[in-house]
Amino acid sequence: MHLSPVIKNMRTNYRDVKRYIVHKLNHDKYKYILKIKTEKCSVSQLKSMGVSVPEGADTFTMVHIGKRDDSKYSKRITTFFNNNQICARYIDSGDEFITKVYNQKTYNRGVNNLFHRVVKTFIYKNNAAPEYSELEHLEIIRNNLNGSVKYKMHRDKNTFKDSIIKASLKEHDNFLNSKLAKRDIDLDIRIGNDGIPHIESKSVSDGINLSEQDEFLPYRFIFDTSKKRLAFTHYFIKKYHLEDLGIKIKEEHMSDNDIGSFDEFEKTITYDKDACETITLAAHEVRHAYQYAQIGRLGKGYTPYCRQCRKKFGNITNPDELAQAYKFLIAGENYPASGSGKLYSENYLEKDANHAELLAMREYSKGAKALASQIGRYI
Ligand SMILES: [Zn+2]
Repeated sequence: MHLSPVIKNMRTNYRDVKRYIVHKLNHDKYKYILKIKTEKCSVSQLKSMGVSVPEGADTFTMVHIGKRDDSKYSKRITTFFNNNQICARYIDSGDEFITKVYNQKTYNRGVNNLFHRVVKTFIYKNNAAPEYSELEHLEIIRNNLNGSVKYKMHRDKNTFKDSIIKASLKEHDNFLNSKLAKRDIDLDIRIGNDGIPHIESKSVSDGINLSEQDEFLPYRFIFDTSKKRLAFTHYFIKKYHLEDLGIKIKEEHMSDNDIGSFDEFEKTITYDKDACETITLAAHEVRHAYQYAQIGRLGKGYTPYCRQCRKKFGNITNPDELAQAYKFLIAGENYPASGSGKLYSENYLEKDANHAELLAMREYSKGAKALASQIGRYI
């Protein structure tokens, strides 16, 4: 099987590909000189210099780039590896001191015996411009029979300003030589006072039909994980009519296995800062808030939140709801202290919250399929 050199590089060494793409976009590349390039070194060297090292990284390389006609120009690119896989990259640009971090995820998906598909996803974060975030999906599809290769690129951007999110999604059929996007979507999404996103204006290329029936549509174009999860949290809070109860939502580094929690004493939903789950996690934790609201309506809860819910919603009149609320109550009494093991996974509060997750995911995937058939599969 014959593969083009670019693809060979792509499969073996990501850095070469990135360099290639950068050069393509950057026509005055000859102005730049390579000052230093290190071999792969252990991160312990950096740690002793006081440089913060991303979690999981074991080795790094560093490249220092200067400009021929500008002695002050300096760009230092530090690439971190975990088990020889790139896990993060820092770019420091001289005075501006812009640090971009990207995380890479690679999916190897043999679609079937005919095609082999690899998707590399890069998440760019710019510490100097937190209002901006960018996602890049590079997709390489190889036909196993004749060796032909197709490239695709999705470049998704969000700019956040006050309550408006500008979202742009561009799909390039061939990211190696095409500047023009084959398809693109530009949206202005407004986050309402209730935290729910709405599409305010849109511009889409011909042939794309954004379904008005898809209630999750605006959520699909929020690419920042935290913001997306927050929007979903408000969505579920509204779904269960819990919006006036003063439920707080926060993010922090949670301990080991925890990625989310609902605390009925504090009336707080907490998410782990690094959790990549969005809709499922929001559906799960808000469902816990709903469960305790129902327990409160039985007149059995002892937290201010439970009493507040009883006052707001009154007693439960529907017999099925009532029966379920008693199951919540019993499960709440037997809720284990540890968030693992059988007692935890078999607890009805958990089973019910997991079911809510599943339903949410099913709903979300419906619209995703319809959109993916038009503009790719990353929505
Ligand atoms: Zn749970």
